[in-house]
Amino acid sequence: MLIVMKTGATADQVASVCRHIESLGLKPHPIPGAERTAIGITGNQGALELQELAGLDGVAEAIRVTKPYKLVSREVKPDNTRIAFPGFELGGAELVVMAGPCAVESRDQLFRIAEQVARAGAQMLRGGAFKPRTSPYSFQGLGERGLEILAQAREAFGLAIVTEAMDRENLGLVEQYADMIQIGARNMQNYSLLRDAGRARKPVLLKRGIAATLEEWLMAAEYLLAEGNYQVALCERGVRTFADHSRNTLDLSVVPAVKELSHLPVIVDPSHGTGRRDRVLPLARAAVAVGADGLIVEAHHDPEHAASDGLQSLYPRQVFELMDELRQWAPLVKRWAPPARAEAFSSHAVLT
Ligand code: PEP
Ligand code: MN
Repeated sequence: MLIVMKTGATADQVASVCRHIESLGLKPHPIPGAERTAIGITGNQGALELQELAGLDGVAEAIRVTKPYKLVSREVKPDNTRIAFPGFELGGAELVVMAGPCAVESRDQLFRIAEQVARAGAQMLRGGAFKPRTSPYSFQGLGERGLEILAQAREAFGLAIVTEAMDRENLGLVEQYADMIQIGARNMQNYSLLRDAGRARKPVLLKRGIAATLEEWLMAAEYLLAEGNYQVALCERGVRTFADHSRNTLDLSVVPAVKELSHLPVIVDPSHGTGRRDRVLPLARAAVAVGADGLIVEAHHDPEHAASDGLQSLYPRQVFELMDELRQWAPLVKRWAPPARAEAFSSHAVLT
């Protein structure tokens, strides 16, 4: 159910409608819009009467939302969601690029890569401290030490940090250190983790499950918003198909489909989507062309010796190529990509 307030409805009127919704045992979600405020309602709405709410002071109309997902749908919020970070925004005209290694391996490794990522102009540094690995014998990540290194790199290079929370136990730690909490493909339907992340105070990047439909993905995002976290971005990272020429099949056709149905920003991961570094740039171009709000790519200063996902990790020079290309292409889709950063970062930061 969605309550649309009249243009010019006062804050008091909005608050009083919210109190009324709460008195019915339901949860109100006020959504300020460019023209007017809407209030999404979640909870079991059983026999709720539209008329009862439509008659409240300041209310223009009460609408039943037809889609199974409510708060993530454009029916409820027509304006695109924008997520603010220090110095940039995800979901607006600026393309946001998150780049970095699959896993944080050491301070030296992360700092070497982070410096190149920053110089190339990307806004965010990625890197897993808690890694979901297919084999229990593979490198599992540095844990909290990895988060500390990420936080140090944020200070040294002025990059926002996105890193994965793998379970409810490490979510609190990740929330403490990161600027954005990644929920990985394998956890897209881990509903208890989603509920906890919905109560976190940091934005969430929700990767699409390995075999998830668009509706399942949006329903997973709904868990986050239903708990009160509206700072959510979706990430297409490829799905499992019969195709064996690539690690996954990057489903770029989902990007305009999400844009039609939801107001949430969508970013694309051509690294996990293809599994090969020579495919990353072509698919990154295509992702921007179909309307992605940004990209997340893996990069490593020495991919041959990376602890994970070396084959799909870009060499640093390829991160520069990607950013250079984006700056040229973005205006064709009415977007822009940030400039390269020429400033010298202190060699102390890089070498110690
Ligand atoms: C990752 O980003 O390194 C990762 C594990 O991604 P996904 O959850 O999409 O497999
Ligand atoms: Mn990876």
